Amino acid sequence: MTNTLQDKKEISKKLKEKAINEGFTTSGIASIPGSSRLKLRTNALDRWLSKNHHSEMKWMEAERRKNISSLLEGAKSVLSVGFNYMNSENSMQNRLLKIGKFGQGEDYHKVISKKLKNIGKWINLEIPDCKWKICVDTSPLLEKAWAEESGLGWIGKNSNLISKKNGSWLLLGFMILTKELVPDKPHQSLCGKCDKCMEHCPTKAIVEPFVVKSDLCIAYHTIESREKTIPKKIENKLNGWVAGCDICQDVCPWNKSISYNNTLETKPREWIKNFNTDALNWNDKTWEENLKGTTLKRIKPWMWRRNIKANLKNK
Ligand code: SF4
Ligand code: SF4
Repeated sequence: MTNTLQDKKEISKKLKEKAINEGFTTSGIASIPGSSRLKLRTNALDRWLSKNHHSEMKWMEAERRKNISSLLEGAKSVLSVGFNYMNSENSMQNRLLKIGKFGQGEDYHKVISKKLKNIGKWINLEIPDCKWKICVDTSPLLEKAWAEESGLGWIGKNSNLISKKNGSWLLLGFMILTKELVPDKPHQSLCGKCDKCMEHCPTKAIVEPFVVKSDLCIAYHTIESREKTIPKKIENKLNGWVAGCDICQDVCPWNKSISYNNTLETKPREWIKNFNTDALNWNDKTWEENLKGTTLKRIKPWMWRRNIKANLKNK
């Protein structure tokens, strides 16, 4: 049993260490229902949705995203983890066609879920009275706000979670627990007067600090949009991006000197390293084979062709 403050401190520390030993770069804990800061973030999400900045991503409207307690009965704490997906081989500099770093390795849902499940098995032994539930990306949860609440980093003006030590090349995962743990301090914003991301965004999609208008964002148009064509206002500003867009992260000063995580999980596939206009000749089967096991499979073959052609129009 872990009831005294000392016990709670100890198990909280061990849990975060276990996450690092599983291969996460950073880990932190928040208490449910969270601080007033979290409420502000929830309100900001409401305003963003009410202005329809999420475009066709209607799943973001789910009320359950805002209520973490509804995801697991008796939920008391959240373990937040960050996985560094920066590999020394995934730079897209000077490439005609570019693919976002987040999607170049293994399917991150699987990578993160597997690690979190291992942590869950450990919890079953160490804290047998604790129930837990894993949330990775698709789960209805205000991910970045909970990561900020757990002290992992802060939500930057480009709307990415930035860690002081590890920058923003992080994929997030969460575990909701029924055990009361010792929370970390919510992270303060360190963007300060910097506005490089806003300045460098080619489509001016960051309409105000922290607010990205999906309808103007290259990442949205290349990954999420099911429109037959890329709108003209975006097409001539694609800058080579066919899957995602890293510009507002590439220019962020907090990403200047971070370390690589050169594991098999983050290593780019060979076809990604050699990606060029030949891909226009690939049939659906070739696409299927290449995309298998990656996060990029959510971009359908017709969308890849649409995105490549849109880029070539402006060459
Ligand atoms: S991902 Fe690209 S288009 Fe979207 S906000 Fe960042 S720089 Fe702008
Ligand atoms: S570029 Fe500057 S303003 Fe934008 S997220 Fe990074 S630190 Fe914040």
